[in-house]
Amino acid sequence: MNSSAEHSRHIPREYEIKHSKWLRKMLHAYWVVVIVHFLVQIGCYLFLKYDRAPLDFIVNVLFWPTVLAVFCILLTSYMDRKFPSCSFTTMSITSTVIAWTIIHVNYDIRIMPAICLLPIFASVLFYDSKRVWFIFSLQVAGYGLLLLDPVYRAYLSSFDMVSIPIFLILATYVAQIIVTTGIEVLDDLQTSMNAKEDLIVRNAIIAKQSKTDGLTNLYNQSSFKDYYEKAFEYANLGMSLHLALIDIDDFKVINDTYGHRVGDIILEKVSLIIQESITASDIAARYGGEEFALLMFEQSFEQAYDLVELIRQKISLMGHLELGGASITVSIGLKGYNLDLSKDKLFEDVDACLYAAKRTGKNKTVTSLVPA
Ligand code: GH3
Ligand code: MG
Ligand code: MG
Repeated sequence: MNSSAEHSRHIPREYEIKHSKWLRKMLHAYWVVVIVHFLVQIGCYLFLKYDRAPLDFIVNVLFWPTVLAVFCILLTSYMDRKFPSCSFTTMSITSTVIAWTIIHVNYDIRIMPAICLLPIFASVLFYDSKRVWFIFSLQVAGYGLLLLDPVYRAYLSSFDMVSIPIFLILATYVAQIIVTTGIEVLDDLQTSMNAKEDLIVRNAIIAKQSKTDGLTNLYNQSSFKDYYEKAFEYANLGMSLHLALIDIDDFKVINDTYGHRVGDIILEKVSLIIQESITASDIAARYGGEEFALLMFEQSFEQAYDLVELIRQKISLMGHLELGGASITVSIGLKGYNLDLSKDKLFEDVDACLYAAKRTGKNKTVTSLVPA
């Protein structure tokens, strides 16, 4: 992770999106710089000793530098809106033009070249060392252009001539260190954000796993009990509720004859049929080994009966290669909620219906208690 190309690849996308925002903030800052420069020049001209003729002052200090700066800022705003991919380049040129115009106009103020620090340090915000080098080369070009002006050149001592480029190099070096450190901080941030996301996903998976049965993907007994409790509360408030228990007939024989693995496959197939047959508002769970519980809401008794009968028939009509083409059957107990029933009593009654179905021949749905 040494090259700048690798660095920029590690910059989180949110930071790329923020670039445009930063760019606009920098443009606002340059408006302020231009306005303040304009006002300070007028103030200095009026109140301090200023050895320029009025026309020279108005044309060369006030008018042209301000017009140039305003033109550059407006052009950058336009480019940012129309061609956002070029906005960094135009912004860099604008900030360089403004900095070196101000340096040129105020060539007699020794500290003025320090203003070229502004573009260099503004480029740090983009966390890209290539961009910092680009801004650096623009400053070198600005300095070179200024040296073409004999008035400016005459003002500079040989020490100035050397110290300004050294100053630029040192500033760029510091900016590069800030960029490298910033990229490392962003990398760490990204790593911890990824770790947090992983943790959230893992927690969600664990939460789901704790509610469902690993083999059949249906709700497990404990989450079924929670839903049953809630369902019963709603039923007490007037919502229709039916409970069915579905048990595979002679499942032990299947296991003993074809092995536990085949038994598992049959369990998966039966749960798939149940899942496919119910509606989104019904709740199916694997209640025990080869026993399933089904909660049906907002259905009449006939509809609930038809649904469980459909499940029973589908299962009995399905041949299984694993069983040499034979089919299996299920027995079902079904009962609807009524005001006389408690939560436990409803469950016991449905269980008794299932038992009655087993006792009276299996492969059937029993809906009312049959005397033993
Ligand atoms: P009945 O018709 O009366 O329901 O008889 P049954 O054989 O289906 O019922 P029994 O309770 O005697 O046997 C259930 C069998 O289900 C025993 C147990 O080994 C098996 N079983 C329970 N859980 C699993 C499982 O996850 N996979 C497999 N393959 N078998 C299981
Ligand atoms: Mg059974
Ligand atoms: Mg059983």
